[in-house]
Amino acid sequence: MSLAGNLVQIANDISFAVSKRRKDVVATGTAVKVVAVTKNQEVSAVREVIDAGAAAIGENRVQEAVAKLEHLDRQVERHLIGHLQTNKVRQAVPLFDLIHSVDSESLAREIDRIAGKLGKRQDVLIQVNAANEDSKYGIEASALPGLAQKITQLEHVRLCGLMTIAPFFVNPEDARPVFRAMYELFTQLKAMALPGSLIEQLSMGMTNDYSVAVEEGANLVRIGTAIFGPRH
Ligand SMILES: *Cc1c(COP(=O)(O)O)cnc(C)c1O
Repeated sequence: MSLAGNLVQIANDISFAVSKRRKDVVATGTAVKVVAVTKNQEVSAVREVIDAGAAAIGENRVQEAVAKLEHLDRQVERHLIGHLQTNKVRQAVPLFDLIHSVDSESLAREIDRIAGKLGKRQDVLIQVNAANEDSKYGIEASALPGLAQKITQLEHVRLCGLMTIAPFFVNPEDARPVFRAMYELFTQLKAMALPGSLIEQLSMGMTNDYSVAVEEGANLVRIGTAIFGPRH
């Protein structure tokens, strides 16, 4: 199947998943954005997926993104979905429209400092380690209110929502409780009504589990393999 065909298939799956949501899953709206994950893909593939209508592209490493996106002669939303080290913030801020992976106050402060220099307000999500896996980045759920409050005090950072990477399960149904807990956290964060924040985005779901994630309220899904095929 072509990239365009894969995007159509994914869009169909997403519509079906939205139609299956429980009635009380309303806080994230009904529009779901697909972030085409272009890590390990050549610039030509990035161009191809944009031309096929991808709404946004996602990279997980700053170094790789800098090298690739410099040569990108296309307009598209750019998202950083991978872990961000403080010493890469200088390169990341000018490059990305949304950073999904903020997981500490010190990182948020550095983003604020660099964004301030550039006269930019950087949109960010807080990454939550929803399943408390040792191997994953992200904050614990209990730390969310505190970090959210700190971030919204920063002038050049705008908090837009939450992101999580669920554990890999052979049966994606097993990830459902993780996604459900994230949706709850999202509604709690939104209810805090922190001044200067715009809590609208819930980034969860990848190739293996995006249908379940969307059913549980995701409105931003990060998909690589289902679009491009297996990575080499
Ligand atoms: C690679 C990656 C994805 C996409 O994974 P697929 O299983 O290929 O869809 C999503 N999110 C993050 C953070 C990633 O690093």
